[in-house]
Amino acid sequence: MSDARADLQATIRAQLERVRGPDGKPLTASERLSDIVVQGSRIYFFIAVSAGEAAAWEATRKAAEQAVAAVEGVISVTISLSAERHEAKAPPPVAAPPAASPASFPALAEVRHIIAVASGKGGVGKSTTACNLALGLASLGLSVGILDADIYGPSMPKLFGLRAKPNVIGEKTLVPLDGFGVKVMSIGFVVDEAKALVWRGPMVMGAITQMLRDVAWGKLDVLVVDMPPGTGDAQLTMAQSVQLAGAVIVSTPQDLALIDARKGVAMFGQVGVPILGLIENMSYFVCDECGKRHEIFAHGGARREAARLGVPLLGEIALDPMIRERSDAGQPVVVMEPDSQAAQTYREIARRVMAALGA
Ligand code: ADP
Repeated sequence: MSDARADLQATIRAQLERVRGPDGKPLTASERLSDIVVQGSRIYFFIAVSAGEAAAWEATRKAAEQAVAAVEGVISVTISLSAERHEAKAPPPVAAPPAASPASFPALAEVRHIIAVASGKGGVGKSTTACNLALGLASLGLSVGILDADIYGPSMPKLFGLRAKPNVIGEKTLVPLDGFGVKVMSIGFVVDEAKALVWRGPMVMGAITQMLRDVAWGKLDVLVVDMPPGTGDAQLTMAQSVQLAGAVIVSTPQDLALIDARKGVAMFGQVGVPILGLIENMSYFVCDECGKRHEIFAHGGARREAARLGVPLLGEIALDPMIRERSDAGQPVVVMEPDSQAAQTYREIARRVMAALGA
């Protein structure tokens, strides 16, 4: 380990000594801290808690994030609460699907398969995965579109590096923009993000419906829908408002994220949408200095979860700073780093999705 990295870790530990958990102990004395991973100026680690303790520890997690962010030389901090070591709950029962009654939109008449990319909570890399999955499907020769239904935080404009406003044909039909050969539509092209954030349920649903109904999607093999995170009413309505061929659930490996992922699986089960599989994102971490694979977030959680739920594991994507940097710059890795391990994994996932759809 380099001296600089060891120094930074020591400084971070010293900062964390001042942060106390709800048990009153300094974090560093509680045996709950994972290894502190330093990747350049980005810091990752987790605090082990049981699922029941998570709410009580959230304030500590935030305080720890602030304390570490204040350390000189730190650009970003990702601290997760993980129940991995403590308990593993059985998944909730999946309700029998009611008869599907999808509203059909003429704009979608020539779309062969619509798939949802969903996650139980935000920040797990759902949008990044949806973007690269869409491009992976396109690289296999399919005609692909992506609908950014993540209305609270539309990320497709950034991920595809698109800033133009879509053309309007006729009275109100929007023409999707072209992102590396994929047809892209996002509420982010039409309203500014700050406005979308204050929208409430009905407006959100109205906007999503509009993007399904009033967009010239044309002929597509697959339309990938980047769902809003979570499993509330908006998600349920979305899952019911079009005939989804299947859903892909993105999760990080920690148990708490997996509990949310389970809710996602159950939600699609309720409306009779098949689960195409789980994707474990930020699965493991390859150290740029020693080249070794570090499983800081107890990698493999999604594999066990998939087996438990009887659904396929579509792939495990590494926690790779290159993914973040390329994504932030609007340069999706499948296109810009096609030979990277990450791009290969995304393409492999796309192949599995394609096979599951029979596309
Ligand atoms: P979500 O849609 O679940 O809210 P995003 O796709 O916006 O999540 O990703 C959240 C952040 O994590 C972004 O900064 C993104 O670049 C980063 N990210 C996503 N996947 C990875 C990964 N495999 N490795 C490193 N960073 C990632």
